[in-house]
Amino acid sequence: MQQYMHAKKEVGDAVLFFRMGDFYELFHEDAVTASRVLGITLTSRSKGDSAIPMAGVPVKAYEGYLQTLIREGYRVALCDQVQDPKLAKGLVDRRVTRILSAGTVFEDDLLDQHTNNFLLSIFPTESDVGLAWIDVSTGAFTVAAVRRDKVVDEVSRLDPSEILLPESLLRDPGELVQEIGRVTSAPRVPTPEWSFELGNAGQTIREALGVTTLEGFGLDESSVCVNAAGAALTYIAHMQRGDAPPISTIHIHDGTARAGLDRATRSCLELLSTQRDGRREGSLLSVLDKTGTSMGARLLREWVVAPLINPDSIRWRQSAVSELVDKREVSDILDDHLARMPDIERIATRLLAGRGSPRDLASLRVALTLIPTLREALTDCASAPLASAAETLQPLPTLLDLLQRGLAENPASTLSDGGLIARGWNNDLDQLRDLRENGASAIASFQAAEAKRLGIPSLKVGFNRVFGYFVEITHAQAAQATIPDHYVRKQTLTSAERYITSELKELETSILTAEEKAKQLEMDLFFEIRERATEDAAAVRDLSAAVAQLDVLAGFAVVARDQGWVRPEIDDGPAIEIRDGRHPVLDSLLPAGELVPNDISLHQKDARLVLITGPNMAGKSTYIRQTALLVLLAQLGAYVPAREAHIGVVDRIFTRVGAADDLASGASTFMVEMTETAAILNGATDRSLVILDEVGRGTSTWDGLSLAWAISEHLYKSVKARTMFATHYHELVDLAEEFDGVRNVNVAVKEWGDSIVFQHKIVPGGTDRSYGLHVARLAGVPTSVIERARHVLRDLELSAPDLRPGATTAPPPGDSNSSVSATGGVEAQEDSEEERRQRVLFMRPVAAIVEEIRAVDLDQMTPMDALLMLKRFTSRLSDAERDEST
Ligand code: ADP
Ligand code: MG
Repeated sequence: MQQYMHAKKEVGDAVLFFRMGDFYELFHEDAVTASRVLGITLTSRSKGDSAIPMAGVPVKAYEGYLQTLIREGYRVALCDQVQDPKLAKGLVDRRVTRILSAGTVFEDDLLDQHTNNFLLSIFPTESDVGLAWIDVSTGAFTVAAVRRDKVVDEVSRLDPSEILLPESLLRDPGELVQEIGRVTSAPRVPTPEWSFELGNAGQTIREALGVTTLEGFGLDESSVCVNAAGAALTYIAHMQRGDAPPISTIHIHDGTARAGLDRATRSCLELLSTQRDGRREGSLLSVLDKTGTSMGARLLREWVVAPLINPDSIRWRQSAVSELVDKREVSDILDDHLARMPDIERIATRLLAGRGSPRDLASLRVALTLIPTLREALTDCASAPLASAAETLQPLPTLLDLLQRGLAENPASTLSDGGLIARGWNNDLDQLRDLRENGASAIASFQAAEAKRLGIPSLKVGFNRVFGYFVEITHAQAAQATIPDHYVRKQTLTSAERYITSELKELETSILTAEEKAKQLEMDLFFEIRERATEDAAAVRDLSAAVAQLDVLAGFAVVARDQGWVRPEIDDGPAIEIRDGRHPVLDSLLPAGELVPNDISLHQKDARLVLITGPNMAGKSTYIRQTALLVLLAQLGAYVPAREAHIGVVDRIFTRVGAADDLASGASTFMVEMTETAAILNGATDRSLVILDEVGRGTSTWDGLSLAWAISEHLYKSVKARTMFATHYHELVDLAEEFDGVRNVNVAVKEWGDSIVFQHKIVPGGTDRSYGLHVARLAGVPTSVIERARHVLRDLELSAPDLRPGATTAPPPGDSNSSVSATGGVEAQEDSEEERRQRVLFMRPVAAIVEEIRAVDLDQMTPMDALLMLKRFTSRLSDAERDEST
């Protein structure tokens, strides 16, 4: 227990797995935690007052338990026996060999192959915030200094598995920490202040990279990035018990080369997962991902949330895609070979960490044999990305030769049981193996000879752990034959006797020593091979990077060809012109021919703000998201689902959905909607693309309409961003009369008797109808309710004050009259002029009062306030009645 307490102190709050023979045991709190989380039995080590809670898992199966704990956000430490129990005098030496956490594991079993597993370190200061993130499994290490208000977006983009924050900050969590908590459930680790401290941090990084200055990486030594990066490396070293984190370089994340997509936009456009159920199926990624390798899949994820903005860089990628679209044979070879390519990025990292397994080396061998064919396929390619890939894809012949000759064909997964090294690689090993195999046949001939000599055909030679090889003779046989004197009886079973002889023991010794020696030698030889492979690990990493990029671009070509997408024309201009654009996800989900393609024309000058009106379910949301997705695809360098597209690049894409439409988030409130909208109004530029879907919906009609109006005006006049706004406030169509660059479009609807057919076709012009009652009817709302609603609607339309700027009166009766009849379903007014006049006069104050009641915050209201309000209402109603009667 002393040993245990010592180890426990060293690992702090990590759950300690303490090796005792064939079990890892957990004690005290850890045992309680483990039994709760893992569902294993809680026992106790001794009885009475000094009882210690205890739980254990077999060493053979501990990995599964470890994984569960880590997934649940725990850190886990392994305390192993570091001495052969046979050699120990007294207590076996034990040491903490590893601490594992969600952000620092690199075992394949514990990781998702298609996503990066980031450990993120955050160092906030008054002005800006230092970020450093590392995928320990790939060695990718990146830093950034960002503004405070961008931190949450970055955190959500990176989706880290574990977050390091200064201890003091977590002790007293401010706004930043809370905001981070809202976008990720990753465990937050209180990290000692000193590890962030500039002097220590800089020193740690320089040591890890083996350099004397960081300037070579373009990193200013006093940057906040250094604080964050240093703490991350210190933490990893602590977790891995001194093994240096396998990094070779630091990338500085340059936010300016990529189009910004904030969290709301990413989730609303369903780039990586759907909003409704958070699944990958139905996301843009699910349609776009045709990668064959794990590193390609990871790179694509990175690309999708960070589109390019430089037209040259975009065209650079496009050139490869278009060459592969044209050259079917090349594309097929890539497809076929990439699908078989193992995850060499993570293998290289494990090699560098000194933990490559026999299977890793076997996978590396597979990878290296695939490389020459890939390279060969690319030799005649002209586009820059493919030509440079051909250049980089070096087969590393010496390493391949080593692996081919040295490593067994199907090496065992464990190191200690042999089966690692190929025959012919080492003479001594082959001799030992012969001895062992001859030994087996020697045993067989011993058995045959003895059976003959004793006249017992069923005599058998067996083996067990306790006394090794033995001769087994059944009682029945033994009774009939004479057992020679040199047979020493070892064990009596119910049906047989077991004997040993000195001849058999001699045989045994030579076989077993050969076996032991062979295993040991194999292990040594394996370490030798691994060491030599590790010398090439950096080159393997370069290979991996080239393969990943090739894989993503080849995938773009496959989608383009399979789905009939086209190459968009890219420039810096003010226009976005798409002919027959299709929503990429809907297009792949709907049966062929059912998707109605649509055009879009956005132009800085003539069509800067496009308003989309139309009934629910018409296709407004689909249309505007489709535009954002096509622009994004284009800026990834991918092809787009359209007949023709011309994209003047955007510096950011903003997408917002009104609270009422945002079903997925549940907790969504009008406050959130407005906070997000504020971020657009403050963050968008004249190069941005803004997509608004029913914004303003989360509040009462008139508030909402007024806000929608003002937001549109501001985006148009001050921000000057290209904007699409889908809205059910048909009053907004009047904006077009005021501003030259505002265009109205609506979604065509065919009326057919009493119902309507959605045609999903975008046509010019505004609409003044919401068709809400039609939709309600289609949804199965009872006819009596629809009829009643029709009545109420008529009254409200007559009495509603018109909020459009400049309009001071309710719509003239004739106006609303005609729009009611235009539904095709509602009959024209039958009431007399006089009746209607009365209703107008009466309904107006009622409508106003209803609005006021809606706006009331009951929690903030005293009973007295309520009474006063009621009094005001009654007096207003009696005023109205008096007016009416006069
Ligand atoms: P709105 O935002 O106008 O209420 P949505 O964009 O949500 O309408 O579309 C409603 C449904 O109509 C979608 O789920 C989709 O099935 C269908 N739809 C939308 N646009 C199209 C289109 N262009 N072609 C075919 N079906 C479409
Ligand atoms: Mg919608």
